[in-house]
Amino acid sequence: MPSANHLTKYINVLKDIQRVLWQAAADDVPPRVFVYAELKRRLEHSQYLIRTGMIRLSESSKPSRTDIAYRVCKWLVEDNTHYVMFVQAFTNAADAMRRINIDPHTVSFAFSFDQRRWEAEALGDNPIRILHLNFYYIGAEPRIWDAVLKAILNPSSHERQLAENFVRTSEAQALLAVYADISPLRLHDVYNLSEMFDALNAQYFGGSVPKPLIAWTSRANYRKVGSYHFVSNMILISKILNDRRVPEFAVRFVLYHEMLHIVHGYYVQNGRHFAHTPEFLEDERKFEQYEEAERALRMIKKLTSEP
Ligand SMILES: [Zn+2]
Repeated sequence: MPSANHLTKYINVLKDIQRVLWQAAADDVPPRVFVYAELKRRLEHSQYLIRTGMIRLSESSKPSRTDIAYRVCKWLVEDNTHYVMFVQAFTNAADAMRRINIDPHTVSFAFSFDQRRWEAEALGDNPIRILHLNFYYIGAEPRIWDAVLKAILNPSSHERQLAENFVRTSEAQALLAVYADISPLRLHDVYNLSEMFDALNAQYFGGSVPKPLIAWTSRANYRKVGSYHFVSNMILISKILNDRRVPEFAVRFVLYHEMLHIVHGYYVQNGRHFAHTPEFLEDERKFEQYEEAERALRMIKKLTSEP
C-alpha cells in the first residue's frame, strides 16, 4: 500500500531535474536523456495509483508544495514540447549570465513556484550567487532574460519594466496556471493577447510584424487603452479591456492600432513625436469593424471616466 507521502517525492524529483538541467546548461552540453525517461516512468506509476484510488490528490484551494511539484512534473511529461521548453529555459538562463560575464557555474539557479517574480542573493564578489526565478519565465525570450538580470543587478534599471511586465502576458499566465489556482499574480485572462496578435498579424500584415512583448497594464488606465513602447518593444493594453463586457473586436482594434505603430514607426519634429500620420490613419481604417470599434471604445471611455 503506497503511503500518503508517495507524491511528496516529487518535490525532490523536481529539485533533482532542475539541478541536472542547470548543470548541463552551465557546462553548455545537452542534458542526459534519462532524466525525461525516468520522470515519465515515475509519473505513470503515480497516475496508476491515483486511478486505482490508492492515492488521492488534495482538493483544497491552496495547493501544497507536494501538489505543486506533482502538477509541474505531470505538465513536463504530458507534452514533449513542455519538456523541451523547460530544458531551453535553463540554456537561456546560462546564456544570459554569460552575456553579462557571469559564469553560470558560480550561480545556484532554479525556478520557483511561489508568489515572487524572483529572489536573488549576492555574495562577496559574486553579483548573483543564488537566483530563484518564477516558473512562468520559462517561456521568456533572451531579451526578457537580459532585462531580468539587469533589473536584479540594478533595480532602477530601465529594463525593470520589461522584466516585471512579463507576468501579465498571456504566455506567462498560461504557465502560472500550471501550478497556481489562486495567486495575486494570476489574472482573470479574458482575452489571450498573444493569440489575438498572431491572428491579426496573419489577417492584416501577412505575418510580417515581429512579435513584441504584449501585456496587460498593472493599473487600470481609463484614458489610454493601449500603448506601444518603441525602446523596449512592448505593447501594453489597459487592463480595463480585460473584461467580458468589452466586445472582442474592440480589444482587437486597440491591439491592431498598436501593431500599426510597429509598422509605421514615428518621426520627430521640433522635439515632438508624431506617429499618427495620415498614412497611419488610413491603415487604421482598414480594420474590418473600424466604426463599431471606435464607437465601442468611445462608450467604454465615457462610462469609465464617470465616477
Ligand atoms: Zn497611437
